[in-house]
Amino acid sequence: VEAVTVIGAGLAGAEAAWQLARRGVPVILYEMRPHKFTPAHHTGFFAELVCSNSLRAAALENAVGLLKEEMRLLDSLIMACADRHRVPAGGALAVDREGFARAVTEVLEGHPLVEVRREEVTALPGEGIVVLATGPLTSEAMSRSLRELTGEDYLYFYDAVAPIVTRESINFDKVFLSSRYNKGEGEYINCPMNKEEYERFQEALATAERASRKEFEKEVNFEGCLPIEVLARRGKDAMRYGPLKPVGLVDPRTGKQPYAVVQLRQDNAAGTLYNLVGFQTHLKWDEQKRVFRMIPGLEEAEFVRFGVMHRNTYVNAPVLLAPTFECKKRAGLFLAGQMTGVEGYVESAASGLMAGVNAARLYRGLRPVVFPRETAHGSLAHYITSADPKHFQPMNVNFGLFPPLEEHIRDRRRRNLALAGRALKTLERWKREKGI
Ligand code: FAD
Repeated sequence: VEAVTVIGAGLAGAEAAWQLARRGVPVILYEMRPHKFTPAHHTGFFAELVCSNSLRAAALENAVGLLKEEMRLLDSLIMACADRHRVPAGGALAVDREGFARAVTEVLEGHPLVEVRREEVTALPGEGIVVLATGPLTSEAMSRSLRELTGEDYLYFYDAVAPIVTRESINFDKVFLSSRYNKGEGEYINCPMNKEEYERFQEALATAERASRKEFEKEVNFEGCLPIEVLARRGKDAMRYGPLKPVGLVDPRTGKQPYAVVQLRQDNAAGTLYNLVGFQTHLKWDEQKRVFRMIPGLEEAEFVRFGVMHRNTYVNAPVLLAPTFECKKRAGLFLAGQMTGVEGYVESAASGLMAGVNAARLYRGLRPVVFPRETAHGSLAHYITSADPKHFQPMNVNFGLFPPLEEHIRDRRRRNLALAGRALKTLERWKREKGI
């Protein structure tokens, strides 16, 4: 192999190309902009931020803060440019979007080992070492080619995600565990509502404020996957005949079937995260918090991910990817970015970092590595490749994905800081041992 091919110079592809080049590996980096745009990009810069200019929380007690710190330890280009182009934003790391994207572009275009080709790649290369990072708005031709590799059932074009809460933030005095008719796999956490609670909730949901949508996202309200607030607006009982139906569920404390029930389904193997079944939504995030906390048992719920509905090209990673980001079906092909089922700018860049490190190892004749579970990188890689493939949905980084500490610390902030401390120590040691 003469060079590694990276397709797409977004958050993930730019970071992957950098990780390859800084290890002395020649890279051919393809980017279709500015000749062809996605519906969300407006410039020809690499790593363009298509929406917010925030890379979210900076502090280590927040998992995305830790992920960024780990990236700094791994000499990330995205983080170096973000830190250099930081703008004031309280506890968040926000950047001057143009300065940031321009800096990423200049470093890669000026790197002697990176050859930039401004063209659309319309099919997956059949051989060689390749990092595919064409993002949530992958061009149509490439989507078709990807579908040939993954199969119809394992490539998705639309993200309708329900909010996810941590198990430990649920008030277990108010909920009960059961599956419908006590049948089927697994137990749900059931949040029972009486008539009055249901009606208040329905009213609040029907009148809550929705996020504005981009033109290209408007067409996609298909039946069977309606936003919960749209269902709420269809009438008083619509939700009681849909996701909030109580049939087959008996509250052991009353011996009766509640008036309505919100069900929470286990979301990760460790059982630390639960999603609200049927609650895909377009509501603004602060509205989601306000309204969904009216559900009995969720008054203090900690949301690790809010519901979203948007265009998103992503694969069923638990079926298709190894935790090294290499495709199980095609050796030498790495996927990176939003298409692997991670969610967010920083997560996308971090997955590009891992894919880049491993593509470089393969180029050198070394075996790809799996990042340690105790790190934010490793936890994210582990989640997307080991989640239940039947219900796979994209995920933000959060401490619920980490293996628990040996000693349980009750205070959330102190616990998160301890998890972060363990992660950074583990990463330092691992980096040294593996020569990363
Ligand atoms: P991208 O950054 O999109 O990079 C993919 C690149 O590949 C693009 O440059 C594209 O032009 C190029 N490309 C596509 N097809 C081809 C092809 N066939 N050949 C060559 N090049 C190609 N996350 C957040 O954290 N905060 C937000 O505010 C946010 N807002 C979002 C808004 C929208 C509308 C969308 C769709 C997503 C948003 N995300 C947000 C989610 C996600 O974090 C970003 O989309 C992020 O940019 C994903 O990184 P990526 O590298 O996977 O893809």
